[in-house]
This record gives sequence, C-alpha cells and structure tokens, in this order.
Amino acid sequence: MPCSICHFNGHNKLTCPLVQKYKDEYATAAATDASTILELQKRFDELAKEKESLRNYTDRLSDNLVRMTAQASRLENEVYNLRKASVDSAMKLRNDVAETLFDKKADIPDGIYLDLMNKLRI
Ligand SMILES: [Zn+2]
Repeated sequence: MPCSICHFNGHNKLTCPLVQKYKDEYATAAATDASTILELQKRFDELAKEKESLRNYTDRLSDNLVRMTAQASRLENEVYNLRKASVDSAMKLRNDVAETLFDKKADIPDGIYLDLMNKLRI
C-alpha cells in the first residue's frame, strides 16, 4: 500500500521521507528565525543604549545653548552700557570744552574760536 502523503511504496505517512524533509526544513528555518530574532533583539538593545546616549548629549547641548544665550544677552547689555557710557563721556567732554571755549571767548582770537567750535560741531 503506497504512502498516503507521497504515494510511493515502502513506507507510510508516519515514516514518509517527504514529511521528514519538510520537518527538517521547518526546524532549520525555525532555528534561523530564532537566531535572527536574537540578533535583532541584541541590535535593538544596542540602538536603545545609543538613543539614550544621544538623548543625554542633546540634553547637554540644549542646556549649553540656554546658558550661552543668557551669556550672550548679558554681554550684549554690557556692550550697550559700555558704548552708552563712552558716548556720554565724549558728549560731556565736548560740552565741557565748548563751555570753556565760550567762557574764554574773549581771550581767544576769533578765527581760532570759530574753528574750534566748528570742530566740536556745536
Ligand atoms: Zn511518503
């Protein structure tokens, strides 16, 4: 009586070499799949660590950006204040010189007086 699976004689469905061949192929494929799953899990774990590391790095960069932005703002204010103080000082000096020239106008020759006042742009 032939095998009910492959229809060859000499064995039955429990000892069929075709069935055994499929079983072996399935076992090999299952082992390969299990190995692939383990490799993928390992790679997933590595990527998770890498992601955490990158998150920490971006957090540090973000903190640095906040600090540097605040520092830039402080420096801008400092530059503005220094520039304003410099302009104020120059204006005061110019006004003081103009006032002195005006007070001493009688002692200064007209040409020199006018030249100096023009140079002060008053
Ligand atoms: Zn068979």
